[in-house]
Amino acid sequence: MEPWQQLNRRACRDLATLAQHLSLDTAPLAAVVERYPLRLSAPLLEQLATAGNPLTAQFVPQEAELDAAGQPDDPLAEESLAAVPQLVHRYANRALLLVADSCFAYCRFCTRKRRVGRTRGISFGEIERALDHIAATPAIREVILSGGDPLVMSDALLGQILQRLAAMPQVRLVRIGSRAPLTLPERITPRLCNLLARHNERQPLYLLTHFNHPAELTAGPRQACADLRAAGLSLLNQTVLLRGINDEVATLAELCYQLTCWHVRPYYLHQMDLTAGTAHFRTSLARGIALIEALRRELPGLALPRFVVDLPGGLGKMPLEPDALVSPGPAALLRSPTGALVPYPDLVD
Ligand SMILES: *Cc1c(COP(=O)(O)O)cnc(C)c1O
Repeated sequence: MEPWQQLNRRACRDLATLAQHLSLDTAPLAAVVERYPLRLSAPLLEQLATAGNPLTAQFVPQEAELDAAGQPDDPLAEESLAAVPQLVHRYANRALLLVADSCFAYCRFCTRKRRVGRTRGISFGEIERALDHIAATPAIREVILSGGDPLVMSDALLGQILQRLAAMPQVRLVRIGSRAPLTLPERITPRLCNLLARHNERQPLYLLTHFNHPAELTAGPRQACADLRAAGLSLLNQTVLLRGINDEVATLAELCYQLTCWHVRPYYLHQMDLTAGTAHFRTSLARGIALIEALRRELPGLALPRFVVDLPGGLGKMPLEPDALVSPGPAALLRSPTGALVPYPDLVD
């Protein structure tokens, strides 16, 4: 077994172990972890001990998770939209393939809380059938491996999936979404990087990281990102906007700027999905738009993510932007990032 697999086996999965690392009344949380399992990788667990660590709120269960408040388990209708099991084909030219139902650590705000860590896993047969479907669908030009965390798979399994994708001429791009650079940076081994580098030569590979707070940008994640980049991959980051954790301009600005310095380009800032058990993390749309407006003043375009909401019912992602064109026409008015109304002699077509 590889060292990262051994480390993964040592993950904290029970409240008693958690309580040894931070002072916490675990009794009220038993029902929570019964429903939504607890998992914290060994490296994350060590960091929790620091007081006020933003990781605590992201990974330690809270009673509020049991308050579904009428929210659906699957707000984006992923299960009903699945073309075949594990394949969410919402946009004609790109499809999301769920290759794993577990992660190295469970984010309490997970949009797939309904299943991640709660199923018996995804069989390779199911993945193969989904790959067959992709192979038979010429419109699909891009495949996004997601989960769960695709990097919980062994190199052998991941290699098999990538090999099948590489043999599909219509698939021009592959993305992998993974939080491993934070949750288990040891997973980014030279062997994995080799595998990814070889695939990248045949089919361009983008890795989407998931960092939410500048406190997450420590030495381990930094090295993991550097190694992935050295393998030739393009790195993009997705951040989830989380109440009380990163919903401040200074926090988001530092996160995005530091990631850009690591050559990890901020891609999306996600409005929380309307998933049951996660309402306590949610901020208003108006607050998100105000934050992105302020970030535009703080950050170079290079470091600025797009703020997006995934529309309920599976209608897709939509960018949310401050209204820039106040009035159209030959004497148009534009609203500048600082709020000034600027006349602009526009074309009329
Ligand atoms: C987010 C998402 C994508 C990718 O969308 P981009 O805007 O290209 O990043 C693809 N499929 C599904 C189902 C998604 O939720």
